[in-house]
Order: sequence, then structure tokens, then C-alpha cells
Amino acid sequence: MDIQNSAIDVKGLTVSYNNRLALEDISFSVDKGAYLGLVGPNGSGKSTLIKAMLGLKQSSSGEVFFLGQRRADFREWPRIGYLPQKISHFNPYFPATVREIVALGLLSRKMVSGAEDKAVEDALAMLDIDGIKDKLIGELSGGQLQRVLLARAIAGNPEILLLDEPTTALDPETRERFYATLEALNRDMKTTVVLVTHDIGTIGKYASQMLYLDKKVVFHGGFNDFCGSGDMKKYFGEYSQHVICHRHD
Ligand code: ADP
Ligand code: MG
Repeated sequence: MDIQNSAIDVKGLTVSYNNRLALEDISFSVDKGAYLGLVGPNGSGKSTLIKAMLGLKQSSSGEVFFLGQRRADFREWPRIGYLPQKISHFNPYFPATVREIVALGLLSRKMVSGAEDKAVEDALAMLDIDGIKDKLIGELSGGQLQRVLLARAIAGNPEILLLDEPTTALDPETRERFYATLEALNRDMKTTVVLVTHDIGTIGKYASQMLYLDKKVVFHGGFNDFCGSGDMKKYFGEYSQHVICHRHD
């Protein structure tokens, strides 16, 4: 495995909750600039995997590398944007505005003055939330909050984006805009994308690599190999295979 060329390497990751295995010996790599669709049934460990990769959930064994460097050895983190699946835990009295929350996405970036404002304005515009930038985040609806946290995740021009079901609270129009933005980041900025989603049509449209998880790695490889594999039908059914694998571009 060529660590120099990968954005992410996960090696032998095992994670438990109260002695119950949630992930068993997970190993895979994601090439720089890839767009990985991370799929699997409910409870298969997708969210746990993302959290364990970031060190937000402790693993009992295994190692994670970002951009060729062992996470445990980081002196400075690379620019990684993360959107957690569960975002409902905001204290309604938390005294921060939308704009301030989005600006937090820039903390790991050293910018010249002025550039910072522009990065925040661009992210607000991209997610169509300029109109609410002075609102307190406790006042927002679920869909608005999801957009704010997505704006925060992309504002820092991340090298790697980890998105855990990012569009569940978005209306169809905003969802499409968001996916188009994500595609542009992946194509133009070479941002490596890891997208957890149940939206199988989206994966078919955008993903270059697939990881099918069910406590273990069931499938990991290129998108076309995934569509060609006999296992595919077993996990998704005949109809889904058509939806995922028939690219409409
Ligand atoms: P997915 O994101 O694929 O739906 P999760 O990573 O959320 O799966 O969960 C994987 C397994 O770990 C499930 O069996 C779930 O019940 C369990 N689990 C997740 N979070 C916790 C937690 N905080 N405490 C105990 N068990 C958990
Ligand atoms: Mg999940």
C-alpha cells in the first residue's frame, strides 16, 4: 500500500461499545482526491468508523493515517472538515451567531486578514444562508443548522471532508446544490470526500470508490468493480443496483 498517495489509511481498526464489537479489524485506504461512498445497513458502524478515524471514539486496536501521517503523531492537524450525523445537541442559549459558527471552520487555517471574511462569505453564499448569518444558532431549524455546519465544514478549504449523512434535513433543491458544490470541491480543489449516505442515487452519480461496511469491510474498491460484483445485488437488490450503477451523466 502506497501511503504517500493516500489521503486516508485505516489499518486493523477495532472498536467496541461496552465490550460489544461495533467494528472488527477494519482496513482500507482512500486515494488523494477520491470520492468515497461509505454505505451499509443501519447499525453497521458507519458513524462509529468516522468518529474512530478522527479519534473521537477510542479504538481497542488499529491505526489511522491522514495524508501519510499517523494520527497519533500529529503535531498539527491537516485540514479536515467533519459533519457529524447527530447535530441536535446545541444549547438553544449558546450565544453564537451563524457567522461565528461558520468562521470556526477556519481555525486550523492561517489566513491573511480579509481572506478570512471572504472565505466565510463564500461558504455562507454556497449554502444559501447569508440571510440568517446574524441569527443565534439556537434559533435555527434542523435544516438551517445542517446548512450552517456544512458551511463550517467546507469554509476552511479542507483537504479531506468527512460527511456523515449530511443532507437528511435539507430540502431537495438545497441538497442538489450541496452535492454540486461537493463535486466542484472534489474536482477543482482535489478535496478528498468521504460521504456516508443512504441516498444511493447520489453515490451512483458521484462516488469513485465504494466501501460497504457491516461491522467488517464487506466490499472496498472502485465504483465500477462494485457495480460489476455479484455481491452487489445481494446487498442492495436488483432495483437498487440499477439506480446506483446506471450513471446519468
Ligand atoms: P451506523 O452509523 O452505520 O448506523 P453506528 O456506528 O451508529 O452505525 O452504530 C454501530 C453499532 O454501535 C450499533 O449497534 C449501535 O447500536 C452501537 N452504538 C453506536 N453508538 C453507541 C453508543 N454511544 N453506545 C453504545 N452503543 C453504540
Ligand atoms: Mg450513522
